[in-house]
Amino acid sequence: MPQEVLEQAAREMLDWPDASGKRCGMGVMEMSHRGKEFMAICAHAEATLRTLLAVPQHFKILFMQGGGLAENAIVPLNLSALRATAGQQGQTDFVLTGSWSQKSHQEAAKYSSTHVAASGQTDGFVDIPVTSTWNVRAGASYVHICSNETIHGVEYHTLPDLKGLGSDAALVVDFSSQVASRPVEWSRVGLAFGGAQKNLGPAGLTLVVVREDLLGHALAICPSAFNYHTVAANGSMYNTPPTYAIYMAGLVFDWLQRQGGIAAIEAQNTAKAQLLYRAIDGSSLYYNRVSHVCRSRMNVPFFLRNESLNDAFLLGAASAGLLQLKGHKSVGGMRASLYNAMPLAGVQALVDYMQAFERTHG
Ligand SMILES: *Cc1c(COP(=O)(O)O)cnc(C)c1O
Repeated sequence: MPQEVLEQAAREMLDWPDASGKRCGMGVMEMSHRGKEFMAICAHAEATLRTLLAVPQHFKILFMQGGGLAENAIVPLNLSALRATAGQQGQTDFVLTGSWSQKSHQEAAKYSSTHVAASGQTDGFVDIPVTSTWNVRAGASYVHICSNETIHGVEYHTLPDLKGLGSDAALVVDFSSQVASRPVEWSRVGLAFGGAQKNLGPAGLTLVVVREDLLGHALAICPSAFNYHTVAANGSMYNTPPTYAIYMAGLVFDWLQRQGGIAAIEAQNTAKAQLLYRAIDGSSLYYNRVSHVCRSRMNVPFFLRNESLNDAFLLGAASAGLLQLKGHKSVGGMRASLYNAMPLAGVQALVDYMQAFERTHG
């Protein structure tokens, strides 16, 4: 979270001021979600996000709950039947580039007939299979990708063009750990979803951006509160939305605008990632195996050639104020997450520490 945003939320916690500065006598957590104060907060968050990410008018912005993992079920519940023939289970295709797309694939099998169109697993998830090699089924309702694999550090730097592959399937993008770090090529997207907790605000809010023509095809078993058509028709207020998380995300969107918008934040993210990858590639102690063309700007996994130094590395980092660097348990090593709120100075501090550690232990 940007510190400025946390400070603003702290100032407003007991008594929220509207845009003109007038206090209303309540904190955001105490408001009715249907009252004029919260309705204004929610509308402002949505409008700011639409401007920030240049979301076209024919896409709905939905504020939901359940996180990325719930969307792994909610997406097939809503979209798998899009192009299904009567009496047949809908077809859903997946491109596997790491743990998150694998999880999505497994969950969708409960609700649809799944198929792996391409996979980077044989090389250990260090590459994204070239789009022209994808084997997308003719009857697929959608193709699911994870645009940034948070654990493996693999990122799409351009979204695939399914039309160019001769497919009419919708592109579904899990952008949980990429959203708002760079622009989105909406012309290629059918639906994008992401948990808020990486780049948008506190946990509890899930963002869904969906093209209008994909609404209204949910399976009969789809829970009403998870039916995109119902959620959209009620302006994300079919059930009580995560009000405080929406408010906080709105403050983050305002902060992003003050930084100069998405183009400015992207330039900052590129500079941060370059600084760290250069340090890794220029060292003889650290390495990262991901192919240069799809290295993530948000999550940088790296390993020590001498793994017995891992604990000493983490201990020294913690005492230098560099926290949460331990890699995900499924891959080991280290991982630096460089989300929007991480300043360049934070990455420089990490690089300085890594170089000092290498001088003493290398
Ligand atoms: C963190 C993450 C998720 C998990 O989201 P939850 O909110 O924990 O359900 C899903 N996909 C990706 C790519 C993530 O990084």
